[in-house]
Amino acid sequence: MSAVNHLIHGEQVAGTGRTADVFNPSTGEVIHQVALADRATIQQAIDSARSAFPAWRNTPPAKRAQIMFRFKQLLEQHEAAISKMISEEHGKTLEDAAGELKRGIENVEYACAAPEILKGEYNRNVGPNIDAWSDFQPVGVVAGITPFNFPAMVPLWMYPLAIVCGNCFILKPSERDPSSTLYIAQLLQEAGLPKGVLNVVHGDKEAVDALIEAPEVKALSFVGSTPIAEYIYSEGTKRGKRVQALGGAKNHAVLMPDADLDNAVSALMGAAYGSCGERCMAISVAVCVGDQVADAMIKKLVPQIKALKIGAGTSTGLDMGPLVTGAHRDKVKGYVDAGVAAGAELVVDGRGFSVAGNEKGFFLGGCLFDRVTPEMSIYKEEIFGPVLCVVRVNSLEEAMQLINDHEYGNGTCIFTRDGESARLFCDEIEVGMVGVNVPLPVPVAYHSFGGWKRSLFGDLHAYGPDGVRFYTRRKAITQRWPQRASHEAASFAFPSNG
Ligand code: NAD
Repeated sequence: MSAVNHLIHGEQVAGTGRTADVFNPSTGEVIHQVALADRATIQQAIDSARSAFPAWRNTPPAKRAQIMFRFKQLLEQHEAAISKMISEEHGKTLEDAAGELKRGIENVEYACAAPEILKGEYNRNVGPNIDAWSDFQPVGVVAGITPFNFPAMVPLWMYPLAIVCGNCFILKPSERDPSSTLYIAQLLQEAGLPKGVLNVVHGDKEAVDALIEAPEVKALSFVGSTPIAEYIYSEGTKRGKRVQALGGAKNHAVLMPDADLDNAVSALMGAAYGSCGERCMAISVAVCVGDQVADAMIKKLVPQIKALKIGAGTSTGLDMGPLVTGAHRDKVKGYVDAGVAAGAELVVDGRGFSVAGNEKGFFLGGCLFDRVTPEMSIYKEEIFGPVLCVVRVNSLEEAMQLINDHEYGNGTCIFTRDGESARLFCDEIEVGMVGVNVPLPVPVAYHSFGGWKRSLFGDLHAYGPDGVRFYTRRKAITQRWPQRASHEAASFAFPSNG
């Protein structure tokens, strides 16, 4: 069993204290021990980042971008190895792991445009012989804390952009599947990144608290569950830091009576059961407008859920792998038990599922509940597993009210052929990312990603244009160069063009 080390100042650094088990969820075996950083190790990473900052801040953006171009090439060359690592520790299928990596690479591509995206704004002659411009300067040392469900993509949402903006970055990935994250960070070193510009420290609450409390860390990007997002947002902002903290979700898909049902069902299958439902944009509630839609949809869904190809994440041609840990599988099962106890109708029960030869793996079959109501825990809470809940309503207005009343507002979608319904939905739904006949409306890298309500704490969304704003401070410069020296009398009125 090998150790997963920190990456500090361009070198792998072994842990000195506590460690955590990293499982292969397909077999249930512990395959690695990951170091859990203590405060001294976090300080080492901070010192490294601080020492790298002055030179990196003054490195031309075009040079920073060239490193990102090489990084993108290396990521593409190593796609197979990275996908295997993700799959081995997370459990998602190889194809799904490759998909997440590709979406991560899109963010590297966006970062390659550093000279363009960092262009300031300029006005000549805002007053007599006075020019004004705004500049976007780096924040300094910034930290990112990421979840287990996208060990490649979510870190790539953060540090390529933060780094091309001139910051130095400390990444604290999930301790549950850290290997691919570390491997990718090493590729960035290989691409020519100076030592200390990116440091990776593994850890748990102790490491995160040390990052929150360190005065040298000026900004925190977090992606994970809502209670931790709220904690990091409140503790970070209390200390005067910039924080963007993306949290959990409960994403609804509305099925209108005029929807193309076959395509909507295919879309729902992928969005509800892909990655075992462990996606913050997974569809976990299907809201059917009318009983006829619900009955027809369930009739088509049931055989497809029962036919899901579930197996060890690292095999090819699968629909679904295991859940990430045994504890998480048991938590999801607990929700299914609670749904049954609350009176929801369990149409497909995946609880007894196991994979021959991998009986100790953390598997769960696809589950489908009908007649779910808003007060049930399976409706209110994020399950983060392969469980789809069907709620029956009578109108689009009722469906939208249901979604708007939910505490989460990450993603949602509507399946319809009617432009008027789609437009009303897009205009008035209280959710940050909306799909029309698109089940997983994850914005591309040149837009920004973020939910509303208790799915995001902070003012700016992640990556894309909002990411650039988050990782830079605007400076407005007003400059006067009179054409010939002349004495000017003092003026006590506020300067204006009036
Ligand atoms: P998590 O909140 O358990 O962990 C996220 C990070 O926080 C990890 O790095 C973890 O080590 C750290 N952490 C855990 N407990 C902590 C504590 N007490 N104090 C400080 N830090 C702590 O989340 P997870 O289980 O890894 O990921 C799944 C969650 O992430 C889901 O809720 C999912 O919806 C959410 N998520 C949201 C988005 C989004 O963009 N909104 C994207 C991906 C995942």
